[in-house]
Amino acid sequence: MKPEEKRFSLDLIDLTKKYGSPLFVYDTTIIQKQYERLMNAFSGVHVKLHYACKALSNLEVLKFIRTLGAGLDAVSIEEVSLGIRAGYQPDQICFTPSGVGFSELEEAVHKGVKINIDNLDMLELFAQKYPEYPVCIRINPHIMAGGNLKISVGHIDSKFGISIHQLPHLLKLVDHWNIPVEGIHMHTGSDILDTEVFLGAVEILLNAAKSFPNLKYIDLGSGFKVPYKEGDIETNIEQLGQTISTRMKAFYKEYGKEVDLIFEPGKFLVSEAGVLLTEVNTVKVSPSTLFAGVNTGFNHLIRPMFYNSYHHIENISNPSGNPRVYNVVGYLCETDTFAVNRRIAEIRVGDILSFRNAGAYCFTMASNYNSRLKPAEVLLHQGKDYLVRRRESFEDLVKLQKKTGLFD
Ligand SMILES: *Cc1c(COP(=O)(O)O)cnc(C)c1O
Repeated sequence: MKPEEKRFSLDLIDLTKKYGSPLFVYDTTIIQKQYERLMNAFSGVHVKLHYACKALSNLEVLKFIRTLGAGLDAVSIEEVSLGIRAGYQPDQICFTPSGVGFSELEEAVHKGVKINIDNLDMLELFAQKYPEYPVCIRINPHIMAGGNLKISVGHIDSKFGISIHQLPHLLKLVDHWNIPVEGIHMHTGSDILDTEVFLGAVEILLNAAKSFPNLKYIDLGSGFKVPYKEGDIETNIEQLGQTISTRMKAFYKEYGKEVDLIFEPGKFLVSEAGVLLTEVNTVKVSPSTLFAGVNTGFNHLIRPMFYNSYHHIENISNPSGNPRVYNVVGYLCETDTFAVNRRIAEIRVGDILSFRNAGAYCFTMASNYNSRLKPAEVLLHQGKDYLVRRRESFEDLVKLQKKTGLFD
């Protein structure tokens, strides 16, 4: 793996001196490289990318990705509003919620964004109230992508999407209410490890697509895997792109029309572009283990504790130190383990450790647990650093609370 100092355009230690730690840093160069890599993987088809902003939703990041030409995939009405605030046109935003109430769909109608419906009852209700409003339909092809149940959303007992087995019922509804279906969608989960499995799902979706004569787009969701550690399997985008391009061109012929092909990458665009920089508070030897304790915890980066994810950790203050084996742990009063038995260049109190792949699902999943403050975010763009979110203050932590006066 390339050391951090070679991946980022500015010195990360200098950034912690300037902004303090813990600190999230994102580099637009890496986001752009990933965007172009994905776009260039396809040929002869009309590909559009909708960035899945739940991965990283800082407004400046959203604006930057907009300048690349992307649309937005929003999973809550708040994310829709963020997209509009970041300058996306309503028709560039696709609202893909799951399990939300009808009023949230109504708000989306008022904002004029594309709506993706994943529930038959909701579809029927929607068609009665908004008969003219075009919809996209989320189909669950029941394909298991990856092995981790928490992040696979295509399996048979998943809450996501309208089951492909309910296609006959769906078609009856569409016919009865004359529903203007402009798109169909799937999002099978967060790990496309096996492109064969993914292509199986694509086949199912394209087959279903033939039952909808007025499609403007087919949305294949996401799940592109990026490497988190040396030797990790990653989605072979170039190969997948070629195979899907060939398949889509054949579909264009079968369907008699060239519709857009949409993908909704989150992790693929921003994961590697981000790093969490944290300072070592303590180095502690127990009878069996050498611990490095850092000034962050699962309140800022929950993925290791939540998904058992691996985040590569580098001691950027002492890169050529002798490697030793550490458990890297957080500062929360809770089991808060980032890494077990990890070989890292010798760690001293005050060193800065970098956690890699901290662009996706890190800040957006952060909390104030233990009454800890959320870190600042810095964006690197064309060789300069910009503070895009200041560090929280103690006042931020209490500002929404109201006094009753009863106990003063
Ligand atoms: C989360 C999500 C994505 C993005 O998934 P990644 O694995 O981050 O690429 C795309 N589409 C939908 C509907 C999602 O919920």
